[in-house]
Amino acid sequence: MTTEVPLPDCFLECYQYLYPTIDFSRIHFYDGIPEPFGWNAQTAAITLTWGYGSDIHIYTKAGTWRPCDQKGYGYELFLTLAHELVHVLQIMNLPYPSEWIPRYVWRFIESGGKSDCSNDLEREAYVHANGCRDGAGGIDPSRPGELRACTMRWAGGQSPCMCSGSTPEVMKWQMFGNDTFLDMLKAECGPSLVMEKSSAFESTRIMQN
Ligand SMILES: [Zn+2]
Repeated sequence: MTTEVPLPDCFLECYQYLYPTIDFSRIHFYDGIPEPFGWNAQTAAITLTWGYGSDIHIYTKAGTWRPCDQKGYGYELFLTLAHELVHVLQIMNLPYPSEWIPRYVWRFIESGGKSDCSNDLEREAYVHANGCRDGAGGIDPSRPGELRACTMRWAGGQSPCMCSGSTPEVMKWQMFGNDTFLDMLKAECGPSLVMEKSSAFESTRIMQN
């Protein structure tokens, strides 16, 4: 089962800074991955496009949509969604969003059925966001993900969002002294982490010209 969920502003504003070319009004987020795409229990999230619509749908593994969690789930969700937003930049390089699934499946087959960093579409997302995995399922220290490496230094695994703990839940910025998570992201990670464009499907673009 999948349930559409709102992206908290404390996540959204970080992503608007990191990915300024993405139109977030076209992106939908869900708790749960639809069948048959959730067959691999390792899949944390998946980005899909349907039919000829231009909207893009990001599905997260059931139960992992916990933006307020401060024990690591909120932080991992933040990094996982950043990874999926790199896929959104890849989709923006295609003439039609509906080409995404067949193109992705083709790259998946070309890379020998891999969805790790040996697959070039995945590598771009992992290197920018949450990091390549090593053979044992941990993070490869030589490619930890630029966003993970930078935020870990000052956020230490804390989510951008803090929640009131009362009902209805009120979400506020995670603060570091007088600075919000976003202030810190800008000051400590800076423009080098801002990604406006993917390098994927460049041959497709040439064919279009
Ligand atoms: Zn991916």
